[in-house]
Amino acid sequence: MDTPHQHRQPSTMSSSTSLRALGSPWIQFCHCGKRAPVKTSWTGENIGRRFWACEKYGVNDTCVYFVWLDPPTCARGRELLPLLREKVDSLEKEVAAAHAKEKKYSRALLFFTLSFIGFTWMNVFQIIG
Ligand SMILES: [Zn+2]
Repeated sequence: MDTPHQHRQPSTMSSSTSLRALGSPWIQFCHCGKRAPVKTSWTGENIGRRFWACEKYGVNDTCVYFVWLDPPTCARGRELLPLLREKVDSLEKEVAAAHAKEKKYSRALLFFTLSFIGFTWMNVFQIIG
């Protein structure tokens, strides 16, 4: 028998309903009673997908609180996000390197300026003396 209108409800349905009743769907509390932070997955099938998880998630398995915020990542997102992530990482490295270089140059400039002032004063004293 074919029943096209019947579809399975996602398991998170009951929790999202109760959250709406609380007023804010953005604040979630884990089993520890602490506010669960929103994190973003950066790996695998769920890349780019945000979720709420206990702050001890992945560190200490005493609290297994974990709820997805976003719907599953689409195929295009799974394809594109790792590339974007890579690009952001390499750009961040470039910026850090540029900042380090800038610091080195400004230190060198300060050194030369002070040397020049010192040299000028030495000449002044030689003229006077
Ligand atoms: Zn917890």
